[in-house]
Amino acid sequence: MTTKPNLLEILAKRPVIGDGSYVHTLEKRGYVTGGLHTPECVLEHPDAVSGLHKEFARAGADVIQAFTFHATDGKLQLSDTAKQYDGADINHAGCDLALDVAKSYNLLVCGGVSPTPTYTAGKGKAAVQAEFEKQCEVFKEKDVDFFIAEFFASIEEMEWAIDVMKKYNKPIACTMRIGSVGCIDGISAGECAVRMAKRGADIVGLNCQFDYNAQLKTMKLMKDALKEAGLSPFLIMQPIGFLSPDTEYLVEGYSHLPEFLLAMEPRVLTRWECRDYARKAYELGVRYIGGCCGFESYHIREMAEELCEERGFRPPGKDHNLPFAEGYSRSSFPLSRSKHGRDFWMNLIPKTGRPNSLALNSEKELIHL
Ligand SMILES: [Zn+2]
Repeated sequence: MTTKPNLLEILAKRPVIGDGSYVHTLEKRGYVTGGLHTPECVLEHPDAVSGLHKEFARAGADVIQAFTFHATDGKLQLSDTAKQYDGADINHAGCDLALDVAKSYNLLVCGGVSPTPTYTAGKGKAAVQAEFEKQCEVFKEKDVDFFIAEFFASIEEMEWAIDVMKKYNKPIACTMRIGSVGCIDGISAGECAVRMAKRGADIVGLNCQFDYNAQLKTMKLMKDALKEAGLSPFLIMQPIGFLSPDTEYLVEGYSHLPEFLLAMEPRVLTRWECRDYARKAYELGVRYIGGCCGFESYHIREMAEELCEERGFRPPGKDHNLPFAEGYSRSSFPLSRSKHGRDFWMNLIPKTGRPNSLALNSEKELIHL
């Protein structure tokens, strides 16, 4: 029997590649309701979720996140289709699908908790923690490898989540959807990192809302604050799979874009930008490097390729017995052969193909409530 190594032991030795986008990708494929983003498709369309897990596994991810995002009863109540299910059933099914794929590829599985409408409605700590506990009890029963709390905008709600997760003696990763301007409670990114680590998180960082260039700057603030406080948790980044420099300094990040979330295609990261992200995150000291909304399996594969020497293996894709883009150097088409080198692609600035398209929104065009 193969024993799985502990996530923290792996992180101490080499970088870990996370998986990518679930709600956003499954919405594009017709399995999740846009705007509500609840995960009842783990029961209604298990093959779609399982297929996406397999894509990330084959792309070289070390981790499969069970699709339990927004799987609290309070959140499910917002959706006509989701509210007919009990949250525990969705969490059970989400874990089973992830565990099944992870077993075939010998990967780690995590159960995830996310912000609750119960917190936003001001129903108090006991009510919010009861929602997290209901999810965590399932994660314990399924014996997932670690817990993740992600997409939190408030450090207070995050701390309440950590208190619950701490009871289960598993590694804990925590990511907030904040930028360099800090969280919605007005707390700086550095202080958020320190508070997450002090409360008991083993891995701290960021997910969603901001692109990798913005997140790298926020991670630096977090890293410096942790060092100043004498703390040394592992660092994690899971940015959006788009570019959004026009919203870098707004609290809600790319949600302010008029293009958010149904016309983001011109801003999708190229695979070469994913390599740039993975390299720069690693150089900053980030050891858990994954993706959030918009990160498709081919993005994850490029990150795994970029860090293959540091990880000690290549992802199990089609042509990975060949060196970098070697297949193109052998193409029968001269134009393809001419572009086979890394330098060409890493230095390319892609155009949008839209004659009236500008690179960024003006301040006036951004959406503010
Ligand atoms: Zn996201």
